Amino acid sequence: MEHKTGFVTVVGRPNVGKSTLINALLGEKIAITSPRPQTTRTNMRAILSTDDYQIIFIDTPGICAPKNKLGEMMADAAKKTLSGVDAVIYVCDATDRTFLSADRKITELIRQAGKPSIALINKIDAVAKEVLLERIATLAGEYDFKEIIPISALENDGLDIVVDAVVKLLPEGPELYDKDYITDTSVRDIAADIIREKILLFTKDEVPHGTGVEIVQFIEGENGAPTHIDANIFCEKESHKSIILGKDGAMIGKIGKRAREDIQKLTGGRVNLNLFVKVRENWRNNGGFLRDQGFGAD
Ligand code: GDP
Ligand code: MG
Repeated sequence: MEHKTGFVTVVGRPNVGKSTLINALLGEKIAITSPRPQTTRTNMRAILSTDDYQIIFIDTPGICAPKNKLGEMMADAAKKTLSGVDAVIYVCDATDRTFLSADRKITELIRQAGKPSIALINKIDAVAKEVLLERIATLAGEYDFKEIIPISALENDGLDIVVDAVVKLLPEGPELYDKDYITDTSVRDIAADIIREKILLFTKDEVPHGTGVEIVQFIEGENGAPTHIDANIFCEKESHKSIILGKDGAMIGKIGKRAREDIQKLTGGRVNLNLFVKVRENWRNNGGFLRDQGFGAD
């Protein structure tokens, strides 16, 4: 068998488990996941290599109706991605009863792009068999998917089948990345995402999606010294700032502690993390600021 290499994008509504799937396939936590939608903001590449193939997965922020400039940039990024890939993985959530108009919008985009696609019905650990069969029938009626595969990204169920199905769709070609290279996203960017993940996790619905994280200093520790990271957390209102700080700094302390633990797992060494909370009104509609943050950069 010739070596195969190709780009595959993972699309689907927010919260269906795209990032969980990518982490499970790679066996490492590189994409952030969250019980709340829209934690993945920019496209990120995750690379799965063996002697026989190299699959370059592109995790997209999810296609949904844009509510502001950040939403628009996220939707544009997803559309652009579709035009440049060899295959598409469409993910839906088995626990959702209906095939929503948002899903139809995605299959429409796939149709327009004309790419071979595989549909994954995720979270089968959480539904009954009958529901699943219904879901498969619905999907088959919506689009001519090459395969429809029920999986559980969380429980690592069905993922071998996914990989086999994807490899079948890839063109022959040499590897583009070193085999031990698993993502094109820097530790610095992943660290920012991890901090944002903890903010979303702990502040629940009190702070809406209006938080951005900017790493202002990232000094890698040499010879066993800790890595030093300073990060700004931007929020839209003074009231959000007080929630993120918490009573006597309890909340920011918890966010910092848990983020630091995850970043340490990633770097494999000690990390000093300093967080600074700042209010920047309406930052989500400020195009220049968003570009500085790396949104819609290409
Ligand atoms: P994304 O927005 O599509 O990237 O979704 P995430 O990967 O962030 O996952 C959203 C939520 O669904 C998280 O709480 C995950 O733990 C959960 N989730 C993902 N995959 C599964 C699965 O196979 N089974 C169950 N029960 N939950 C899952
Ligand atoms: Mg995600």
